[in-house]
Amino acid sequence: MVTYPDIGDTNYFTNRALENKAGEKKGKIIMWRNKGEEEFHMILTCPECGEVNEKKQAFEKKPYRPNCDSCGAKFVIAKLKADKKKK
Ligand SMILES: [Zn+2]
Repeated sequence: MVTYPDIGDTNYFTNRALENKAGEKKGKIIMWRNKGEEEFHMILTCPECGEVNEKKQAFEKKPYRPNCDSCGAKFVIAKLKADKKKK
């Protein structure tokens, strides 16, 4: 059972679809950081292997690059505006 944060207690929250290498949006990530904490909480459903990773991880700088502990796939949480510029 996942405990979602109270949005008012966070200073970062994102909910994204994740694509696998074939470009299929089979995965997703929900990631947030509570105020006063260094580590991010994340629930990452890996689009490559289907594993659900629920863990805490600290990132030193943007863009954040969470990974799947099961298969090692890495994902970049790019800024949404930056995504639009690329296309
Ligand atoms: Zn994986």
